Amino acid sequence: MNAACSRTKLDQSPTELSYANQKRSQWRESPAQTIAYAPKEETIFLSGGMTLLQDRLVESALRSHGIRYDALPNPDFASFQTGKAFGNKGQCNPTYFTVGNLVKYLQKLHEEQGLSKEEIVRTYACVTMGGCGPCRFGMYITEYKKALRDAGFDGFRITSFEHDKGIFQGEAIEEALIDFTPAFFITLIKAVIIGDILNILGYQMRPYETERGSTDATLRQCRDLISEAFLSKHSLLRAMWRCRGILEKVALDRLQIKPKVMVMGEFWAAMTEGDGNYNLHRFLEAEGAECIPQPIINRLMLSIWEAEYRQRSSQDLPDQKARSIDFSGAKSRALAKLAKHAVKLHFGLYAKAIGLHNYDMPDIDKLASYSSAYYTLECDGGEGHLEVAHLIESVKENLAHLVISVKPFGCMPSSGISDGIQSLVTNRYPQANFLAVETSGEGAANFYSRVQMVLFKAKQSAKEECKALPLPDTIPPRINRYLYQPRNQKTGTAAKLLYSIRRPFPSSLMI
Ligand code: SF4
Repeated sequence: MNAACSRTKLDQSPTELSYANQKRSQWRESPAQTIAYAPKEETIFLSGGMTLLQDRLVESALRSHGIRYDALPNPDFASFQTGKAFGNKGQCNPTYFTVGNLVKYLQKLHEEQGLSKEEIVRTYACVTMGGCGPCRFGMYITEYKKALRDAGFDGFRITSFEHDKGIFQGEAIEEALIDFTPAFFITLIKAVIIGDILNILGYQMRPYETERGSTDATLRQCRDLISEAFLSKHSLLRAMWRCRGILEKVALDRLQIKPKVMVMGEFWAAMTEGDGNYNLHRFLEAEGAECIPQPIINRLMLSIWEAEYRQRSSQDLPDQKARSIDFSGAKSRALAKLAKHAVKLHFGLYAKAIGLHNYDMPDIDKLASYSSAYYTLECDGGEGHLEVAHLIESVKENLAHLVISVKPFGCMPSSGISDGIQSLVTNRYPQANFLAVETSGEGAANFYSRVQMVLFKAKQSAKEECKALPLPDTIPPRINRYLYQPRNQKTGTAAKLLYSIRRPFPSSLMI
């Protein structure tokens, strides 16, 4: 505690606290006053919270459907503080960051653009994911409403689709503000898939760029090109193909020896690119590592898998009523299968067009088989069994020199369950270099120092892997082309490349 803190005194005695004498009332989500909302064609929708690239692509994709949509800025530390100020106590970080981000944005509209709070409530709405979860996820929408009311935006509209229903929302939603039609979800998913592919390539290229910032600059050009294709309804495949020429301009030096670090964990904490995880990906790159990110599409595939799994399991239930869950009947099963294949097909086509050859979409059945001995597959919430599965997969398939599982402080499925199980997994796979680390929105120094400690070991492993390879006579030019992505049993990029040419390795390249 610093000196200023120790001098702080409450200006009210405990019995005089302002809330103490307030009349208790029942919490209600509906606004106290009747509000004359703008019709849905005039409503401006806000959302965000994915990666920077995906938020922009989704914006273009939804605008191409005639939806007035603005992507919210990336949640930062000020968003977190705003969320804490207006939210309930004991929430997890993603709640504070995302709820606070919306409140902060609306406050800015009010203060900087001079829009009255009534006008904002009348014309804006937020679209988010909802759903019933075994953790705090089930409370997100109520949390939004509570914080918005306390910040003076009582009655602000929140519209949601359920994360585990994918494109099959229609029957469950009455009077939706947005028409959550299959066409809406297909466009949305295309934007997410393309964003994932660009992000994966970015993480493969950025650590090896010879001119700092060149990868990000070209990714922005690709993003603009694809956004334009969405808006003008031109071929996305063609746009992805044209991105090849843009990405090829980035000069790379791919024989630098860098450890590969798989970043996984709770969905939002592992995926966000900002203060929500202390900029973990950029920190790792600055420390000399290459990141393997968790694409958003992994979460989507898990949701489809969970729905199918529940559907299969419910067939054995004696009670007929208990069978009517998210996906019921042969038609729904077929649609789920179709959705899975459509996602895989689009991912494959777009990846091929832009030249991402070394990435396979997750095989959730295989991952479930890896984790089933450790994690009850019936348990969902958070990443379900995926965290445990990813760690086992990384060891069995030699994917990374280090696995970091990042999670918000107090996350129930991730800290409370997966991390407990991971100690058994690391006991059975002692070669795993694993770190589970929590983000609280504060305490970055402690977080970074824990990451640095395990990164040291990962750097040693990456060096040893290269040292064991024979020395090449010459280095073929294709080595530094991003399109050259050999697949073999080596882990690090330099080792994979060298192993692929089976030539000796110059000692001058060792660091
Ligand atoms: S999975 Fe964890 S971080 Fe995400 S909503 Fe649930 S408790 Fe919060």
